[in-house]
Amino acid sequence: MQEVDLLIIGSGPAGISTALHLLKQDAGWSERMIVLEKAAHPRPKLCAGGVTRIGLETLRDLGLDLPLPLPSVEIEEARMIYKDRVIRVRGEPEFVVYNRVEFDTFLSDTARQRGISIHENEAVQTISLNPRGFVVKTSQAIYQAKVIVGADGSKGVTRRLVKRQEKVSRIARVIETVSPATETQPQFTDGYAIFDLTPSEENLQGYYWVFPSKVEHQPSLNRGVYDSRIASKRDKANLPSILEEQLTPDYNEDLTGRLQGHPLHWFSPTNRFSVPRLLLVGDAAGVDPLFGEGIGPALAYGELASVELCNAFRKNNFSFKFYRLRLLTSRVGRYLLPRWLLAWIGYHSNGSRAFMHSLWTVGKIMFALRPKQDPLYSMNPTNMSSSRDHTTRFSE
Ligand SMILES: Cc1cc2nc3c(=O)[nH]c(=O)nc-3n(C[C@H](O)[C@H](O)[C@H](O)COP(=O)(O)OP(=O)(O)OC[C@H]3O[C@@H](n4cnc5c(N)ncnc54)[C@H](O)[C@@H]3O)c2cc1C
Repeated sequence: MQEVDLLIIGSGPAGISTALHLLKQDAGWSERMIVLEKAAHPRPKLCAGGVTRIGLETLRDLGLDLPLPLPSVEIEEARMIYKDRVIRVRGEPEFVVYNRVEFDTFLSDTARQRGISIHENEAVQTISLNPRGFVVKTSQAIYQAKVIVGADGSKGVTRRLVKRQEKVSRIARVIETVSPATETQPQFTDGYAIFDLTPSEENLQGYYWVFPSKVEHQPSLNRGVYDSRIASKRDKANLPSILEEQLTPDYNEDLTGRLQGHPLHWFSPTNRFSVPRLLLVGDAAGVDPLFGEGIGPALAYGELASVELCNAFRKNNFSFKFYRLRLLTSRVGRYLLPRWLLAWIGYHSNGSRAFMHSLWTVGKIMFALRPKQDPLYSMNPTNMSSSRDHTTRFSE
C-alpha cells in the first residue's frame, strides 16, 4: 500500500487547477500529491469548450500567459435571445471557445512540466475510510491517503461519498452536436455566440446555444441544448426535437446518430461539498445552474480548495467544517450564488411571457450599465502590453 498525503481524483480542469494552485503555494506539494485519471490525455470530452473570464483569469493567476497557445475562437458578443428580444453582452473577449480535448491536454501537460505526478489509465474503483484517512483502490494500486479531492466530474465516485438522500435531483441534461462550418459564416466574422431561451415555451428550463469553434483546426459550429431541470417536477422538454427545430430552417440537417448527451451536476448552496478528509471541486461540487457553465468555475474551485488544503495540513485538522462557508464567500461562490438564484427564479417561472419580457428589460439595462471590463489579454503579469492583434478572432 502506497502512503500519500493527498490524492486528487480526476485530471479535468478542477483536478489540475487544484494541483497547480497547491504547487503555487508550496513547491513541496509535488512530492506529496498524486493525480489519478481513469483515461489518458488526449481523452474524449463532450463539451462546447466556452471558457469565461473567471476561468481565464484563474489560469493567468497561475502564470499562464493569455491567449493560451491553442486553437480558439474569441467571442466578443454573447447574444441572449428571447423571441425578438436580444441582450448583447460584449467583452474583449466575453469568452473564448477551445476544443476541450486540446484544452485539457494542455492543462495536464502544463501540470506535468511543473512536476505534478499524474497517473493516467488508473481508475479509482473503491474508497473506504479508516482512522488514518482513505484507502483508495484503483485499477493499478492501493493507496492510503490522508485526504482526497473529488474532481471526478458529475458521474464520479467521490460525489457518492458525500451525497445525502437528496429529495430533489440536481442534475441537468445537456446535448450537443458539432458540424463543419466556414469562417465566412457570421458567427465567425462577427465573433458572436447565441444563447436562445425562446424554447422555454416548450418546457425547456435552459437554452439553445450556437458557438463557433475549432475542431482539429477546422471551423465548426457547436450547437446544443441545456436543460437545468431545476423545477424537477415539471414535464421534461424534448431536447432532440428542440435542437432539430432550431437547426432545420438554417441548415436542413439530419441529426440521426450525431447527438451526444451528458448529465451535469449543478451547484446549490445546500449541496454537500465535503466530509472529513474529502473535498469536492468542479462538477462534483456543482456547475452554474443558469447556463451549465462548468470550466471557469472548475478552475476557480481549484484555487479555493488549495487554500483549504494548505490550512488543513498546517493545522493537522481535516474536518473541512468551514469549506461550505468559505466556498460561498469565495470568488467561485460569489460567481455561482447569483446564478443559482436567477436560475431558481427564472426556470421556475419560465414559459411566462410577462416574466421573460420583464427579465429582458431588466437585463438590457443591467448590461448597458455594466462597467467596461479591462481587455483580458492586456493584463498578463509577464506582458502588460498586448501581444495580440484583437481584430484576429481565430488563433492557431
Ligand atoms: C454538452 C456539454 C457542453 C458543455 N459546454 C460547456 C461550455 O461551453 N463551457 C463550460 O464552462 N462548461 C461546459 N460544460 C460543462 C463542463 O464540461 C464541465 O463543467 C467541466 O468539464 C468540469 O470539469 P471537472 O474537472 O469538474 O470535470 P471533468 O472535466 O468531467 O473531469 C473529470 C475527470 O475525472 C476522471 N474520472 C472520472 N471518474 C474517475 C475515476 N473513477 N478514477 C479516476 N478518474 C476519474 C474523468 O476521466 C475526467 O478526466 C458542458 C458540458 C456538457 C455535457
